[in-house]
Amino acid sequence: MPVEDFSNEDSLEPISEASAPSERRLEDDKTASFNFWGGLSTVLAAAFIVATLFTVWTPGSVVESSLQARMAQALEPGPGGEILFEPEGVSDDQVNWENIGIVAGHYGFDPGAVCPNNVTEAELNLGIATLVQKMLTDQGYEVDLLQEFDSRLWGYQAAVVVSIHLDSCQYINDQATGYKVAAALSARDAVESQRLTQCLSTRYGEITKLPYHAGSVTDDMTYYHAFDEIDPRTMAAIIEAGFMNMDYRILTEQTDLVAEGIVAGIRCYIHDEPLQPSQSP
Ligand SMILES: [Zn+2]
Repeated sequence: MPVEDFSNEDSLEPISEASAPSERRLEDDKTASFNFWGGLSTVLAAAFIVATLFTVWTPGSVVESSLQARMAQALEPGPGGEILFEPEGVSDDQVNWENIGIVAGHYGFDPGAVCPNNVTEAELNLGIATLVQKMLTDQGYEVDLLQEFDSRLWGYQAAVVVSIHLDSCQYINDQATGYKVAAALSARDAVESQRLTQCLSTRYGEITKLPYHAGSVTDDMTYYHAFDEIDPRTMAAIIEAGFMNMDYRILTEQTDLVAEGIVAGIRCYIHDEPLQPSQSP
């Protein structure tokens, strides 16, 4: 509502002009009739503005209109078509979700990276994700194994979501080995988000002995679609667990170790394990 477009001065100007025609009409017939219609239109314009002002400026109307605006905003459907309306005073941050979501990258959607022997990223991701799920379930956690574009991801609520992906099967160079981790930029709690990234990176590196492939976190990782779909209070990260070219053997022959590294990272985050600042040997 453009309430601030009107001021007291604006409303007074047209009203004083509106009283002028009675004096001017005495001077000349031609100008008198011109002035009469001119004056009439001014009166109508002034009346219109005053009427508008009264409509806008009824007592309490500013409060009402802002409330209306908020209601309109609140009733706008969200991405899933649901009505978003969070009553004030209800804290967003007091959540206690215990389940864990594991996304098997590309699973149910596309093959992802493909090796010359036709081994696909999707099948390796699923193998790792299934092991992660089994290990965590055996330890008493409730785990959802999710597809890349799983419909459950919309508004998904969990203690943590980790999406498992792998890097290219093409030979790039001798440095194309190792893993990287990115967290959701949109996460409400940046500190928690950072801790999740650190837990996953540290524990995965400790257990698999793979190097952290610094500097290759891509936009595909930081703007990962699932980060926008889940409930913003759900902490989420994506791990590229290794390169399918140079790390092929560990990914395919030591899958237990790979899964263990991810499990340890998740446990570190959930149990708030202290992380040592990088120790020099
Ligand atoms: Zn991928």
